[in-house]
Amino acid sequence: MTEPRAVSADRIDVDDLEIAPERGWNGLYLDGEWNPAGDRNPIDVENPATQETLTTVPAATEADVDEAYAIADDAQSEWADYPPQERAAIVSEASRLLSEYADDLATLFALECGGVQLKTGFEIQLAQGTMDVGAGLAMRDGGRRKESVTPGKENFLVREPAGVVGVITPWNFPLYLSSRVVAPALALGNSVVLKPDEHTPITGGLVLAKIFEEAGLPDGVLNVVPGNGHEIGDHFSGHSVPSVMSFTGSSEVGRGVGQRAVGAFTEPALELGGNNAHIVLEDADLERAIDAGAFGSFTHQGQECISINRHLVHESLYDEYVAGLAERAEQLPIGHPLEEGSLVGPVINESQRDKIVGYVEESIERGATAEAGGDHDGLFVEPTVLSGVTSDMPVACNEHFGPVAPVIPFESDEEAIRLANETEYGLSGSVHSSDVARARDVADALETGMVHINDQPLNDEPHVAFGGVGASGMGRYNDEWIMDTLTTLKWISVQREPREYPY
Ligand code: NAD
Repeated sequence: MTEPRAVSADRIDVDDLEIAPERGWNGLYLDGEWNPAGDRNPIDVENPATQETLTTVPAATEADVDEAYAIADDAQSEWADYPPQERAAIVSEASRLLSEYADDLATLFALECGGVQLKTGFEIQLAQGTMDVGAGLAMRDGGRRKESVTPGKENFLVREPAGVVGVITPWNFPLYLSSRVVAPALALGNSVVLKPDEHTPITGGLVLAKIFEEAGLPDGVLNVVPGNGHEIGDHFSGHSVPSVMSFTGSSEVGRGVGQRAVGAFTEPALELGGNNAHIVLEDADLERAIDAGAFGSFTHQGQECISINRHLVHESLYDEYVAGLAERAEQLPIGHPLEEGSLVGPVINESQRDKIVGYVEESIERGATAEAGGDHDGLFVEPTVLSGVTSDMPVACNEHFGPVAPVIPFESDEEAIRLANETEYGLSGSVHSSDVARARDVADALETGMVHINDQPLNDEPHVAFGGVGASGMGRYNDEWIMDTLTTLKWISVQREPREYPY
């Protein structure tokens, strides 16, 4: 473990952390080298708590993207020939290094993403989980034998790496969301070009380069191009080299990424936005439902694709639920993410804050009432509970991505299902009831990829299929499901006896 360090953010230079590359973070990781920024434009990485610049990284250009893909393409086949246990060992070592650098990572998550210590703990645990499961894939299922309808023939389905994998990730859980593709992709013999989000190029990308470099990954197998999505994103996702384009981010951007990938005959894997409902039926245990509702709404300031976006509560419990949730919201300590005990940190940037605040203000103008919160200071948005909300209000019909809990009443299970499904998204959700069979009926009727009974939607387990339907994405991540995406099956048949052809 690195030495525990003081938590005064002002005294921490992220370029001097033990995990930082020798010259600091202002470099591109290509072919195992930390290339200096040169005359590339800088990306200022901002600390959302103070809105001060933490450091700069280079904005990769389209030429850098071409170079990164060419390097990855060159390196891939040799890497695929490594014995699987050696690939697995490198990914496992990367997982171990995350523990070794846990203190530096906690600092980086706090300063770059505004993540409080609780969130940092979740993120490191998830990143390690996905690396551990990913490492195991190297030795899993090399293919299978299938009977043949042709006499004397033997069929084999051989699993091969997809090739080069392009990965684009967002800023909210940057290390984990990058790791959940990078780790299995590498373990399975692919090479990778990773473009992290411009708000979190360090924890979303350069940290992984550093960790895998130290873990012994051969040069060129993982390349990281920090860059602005609006500058290099189209070029990156429509490129002819990658075989898989993994995108995690908004549905709006994801639609374009998917279209460009398909246009280049690249398989898209899309994990997109959500508008998740937390449904509290009339026979629910109210306290449990409120506890879950608070955690699902306010963790990491509501900035998760699987956060609760809407609370749908039976009218008989509505007032008590709103009062209980408002009480929880008011008790949550807001503060600098490095401050001991902070549970609510800043949101990522001004445009996200303005969007969240705008949705809240407009919904209040249209008749909603703020029962808790409703205010902000800098990028710190108060945990906000809104009553009197209807489905068409901005805070309910958009993915607000903030610490905001709009509560909507319903009269029957059927109405709850209808309201929950009244969205183009279909990611996650939750249902509370003391009758699990009843909750299960509701869960079955929800048009989502994931539903959690007597819990809240914010769940991810690296060995369980994760993903959504509709505007929430295509494909599933984690374990065997991401393995399918990151590999290709080749049918090889052997005709062991002469075959009788019709002519
Ligand atoms: P975003 O779509 O704006 O950005 C995500 C990534 O896309 C960034 O790396 C960005 O640089 C890049 N990008 C931007 N324009 C691009 C373009 N034209 N081509 C290619 N890439 C481009 O998303 P965001 O607002 O930063 O992240 C929040 C969104 O991500 C929310 O909608 C959230 O629900 C979603 N998300 C989904 C999951 C999931 O697993 N389903 C997980 C986390 C976040």
